[in-house]
Amino acid sequence: MPSISRRVGRAPGHLVVPSPAAHPCSCGDNRPRHPWPRFFSLLTMLLFLCIPLCAAPEKHLSVYSTAANYSLPIVQRQGRDYIGLLELLEPLGTVSAKTDGLHWRLHYNNILGEFTVDKTRARIQGRDADLSAKFLMENGRGLVPLASLNSLLPRFLGGPANLHEESARLFIGNVATHFTALVAPEDPAHLVFQFTAPVNPSVATEPGKLHLTFSHEPLTAPASPTLTFASKTIPSAAYSEGNGAAEITVTTNVPLMAGFSNDGRTITLAPAKSLPAATVASKPAMPAPQNVQGAQSPPIPSSAPRRYFAVVDASHGGADRGEALSPTLAEKDVTLAFARRLRQELESRGISTLVLRDSDANLSLDDRAFFANTTHAAVYIALHAASSGHGVRVYTALLPYANATDDDRGPFRSWPTAQASSIPTSQAAAASVAEALKKGEITVRTLTAPLRPLNNIVTAAIAVEVAPPASDVSSLTAPDYQQLIAGAVANGIVAIRAQLAAAP
Ligand SMILES: [Zn+2]
Repeated sequence: MPSISRRVGRAPGHLVVPSPAAHPCSCGDNRPRHPWPRFFSLLTMLLFLCIPLCAAPEKHLSVYSTAANYSLPIVQRQGRDYIGLLELLEPLGTVSAKTDGLHWRLHYNNILGEFTVDKTRARIQGRDADLSAKFLMENGRGLVPLASLNSLLPRFLGGPANLHEESARLFIGNVATHFTALVAPEDPAHLVFQFTAPVNPSVATEPGKLHLTFSHEPLTAPASPTLTFASKTIPSAAYSEGNGAAEITVTTNVPLMAGFSNDGRTITLAPAKSLPAATVASKPAMPAPQNVQGAQSPPIPSSAPRRYFAVVDASHGGADRGEALSPTLAEKDVTLAFARRLRQELESRGISTLVLRDSDANLSLDDRAFFANTTHAAVYIALHAASSGHGVRVYTALLPYANATDDDRGPFRSWPTAQASSIPTSQAAAASVAEALKKGEITVRTLTAPLRPLNNIVTAAIAVEVAPPASDVSSLTAPDYQQLIAGAVANGIVAIRAQLAAAP
């Protein structure tokens, strides 16, 4: 199995959605990985089912660390906030606990903590540690006062921990996402946020205000919590924290749209009416067209009629070599060869096709989605290659659940869930392609995965990942193997052509 993935920080009853994974192959990125997208999907459903049952407002601690971001329930005992210490440490290392009468012994990696019920003095590695209130135990679960975490955690973790007690946010280690907000000099109606790491806030509006809420990101306060801008349409913004989240509230006198770009590191707010109706998000600056297809083929303006039925995207390129399939074979070269072959096969079946990266150019995932969306093609096909596994894996998007409903309110179509309305068509296309591959006697699996940029594509979108037929990686470059797969994928697209053409 390749390695699609994301890690789901998990605490009893609570899910955290980290930033989307970039691609299915193991291409040297160090994003956290989770091998079970379907498992994730199931958990998502369970969460939705759970909402009516556990809707009572509960206080939560959001925890940010390099290992995982997660959230835990805060319990109120004797008028104070308490937290389960084992649950808090569990995602960070190897942890176990033993109860012996009134004594509770916790092992975290090689560190021993000893706690006694109703005592404020504990021992960590044999040395005293004072709690701000009594230690409590409930059903073998050790509870420590929230206010003690700043002194307690460094003793276990051997590094800094910084609790924002008022807002219930805990920063472990040197994790922080900073941001700047600037009005675009050429257009004061555009406000551009730059973040030091990818973010995926929920977006909400009310008259005169737009809220960006960051539950899963260690966003930290700017030098001054109130920011003012030389803009008549967007005069100010304010940073605040509360309930385990950070929030940026933007004051505006026109309806705004939010556009995500730069792999989630840039958010651009712009008046809704100034953006082309067909694009789901704005781009602060359009890359030069020669990055895409050579200077003679600029991207198609959004008002143009459909010129291409299919967009084929050779994943990776330029400095992004993708997976090292062998010491001499880079994924980016295999995907480009496949893309050109697939275009040939599609064109020979009467399907007009644009290869999005027809050179060794390096395109960001946002750029790929942006250009694919502006072509108004009926289907988008991303190509990957992998050295592990056999045959072909066909992917459709798994959308970040937290945004699937929240962000599409008001004037918004959310960039992270742009794919939402096309999922059924995408799945039909994946099934059709898989069927055609099976006919060609190629091993094939269809999968759902949080795979960028599929979630940012407005039209039917699939990713096709090609692995060798057997153990010999060099067969990825064999013309007959490439031809077999490209021909079968093209057959699968042709078989569902009418449905793709009919989709809005
Ligand atoms: Zn790849």
